[in-house]
Amino acid sequence: MDMPDIRIILVRPQHPGNVGACARAMKNMGLRRLVLVAPQRFPDAEAVARAAGADDILTAAEIVDDVPAAVAECVFVAATSARDRTIPLPRQEARAAAATLCAQARSGPVGLLFGAERTGLTNEEVDYAHALVQIPVDPQFASLNLAAAVQILCYEIRCTIQAGPAPASAHKPASQDAFNRFLEHLEKTITDVGFLNEKHPRKLMRRLTRLFRRALPDDNEIQILRGLLNAVEKPYPPRR
Ligand code: SAH
Repeated sequence: MDMPDIRIILVRPQHPGNVGACARAMKNMGLRRLVLVAPQRFPDAEAVARAAGADDILTAAEIVDDVPAAVAECVFVAATSARDRTIPLPRQEARAAAATLCAQARSGPVGLLFGAERTGLTNEEVDYAHALVQIPVDPQFASLNLAAAVQILCYEIRCTIQAGPAPASAHKPASQDAFNRFLEHLEKTITDVGFLNEKHPRKLMRRLTRLFRRALPDDNEIQILRGLLNAVEKPYPPRR
């Protein structure tokens, strides 16, 4: 079975046992790329023990400092959350989300973010996602163990792949790197032209980031937007 490049990204995991159990859950379902963002304890014997034979996934795990580094190569990112969030992002339940992730993975690497055991993902971390994923649970007791949440998503991804190849999307979104360079350019330009109020810079940029992220621009569209910013920064040609 041809498994998609879907990266399981654990953000600040606290318990090495959970990291090991996540590796095991992934390997059972045929997923191999584990990314750890600032793990509290890693490597660790407890992780190896709980991986129960999936220690190759742990050895190959990529360790990074923050979420932007974890998703830099990804063309699409989804954030899992036990909580309802007020963030204006498309939401999907696990099964539908698995189909979306597999379809997007036809264009390039896809990232699936999981939060820390006690705190989950911060809103700033969710800002890097294009969609929110919820596993349907009893709302009175909505928070799953981290490795259980990883298991369910990996299972749904496997079922999706088993059901047949995802239709290729005609649209290939730009990488996060290209998208972030556009954001830096945007911030500089709107500061230079005096549109960004320096007293409230973060809120405006955050809203603009969400707006452009929702649009999933491809490389060509990013180039057009950057060309537009270049044109805005040039002095106006004299009027005829
Ligand atoms: N107390 C935290 C929950 C942490 S559970 C909070 O309120 O956010 C650890 C991680 O497992 C979560 O960040 C999320 O990535 C995943 N998770 C747990 N339950 C989930 C659910 N019902 N749907 C989707 N993801 C879930």
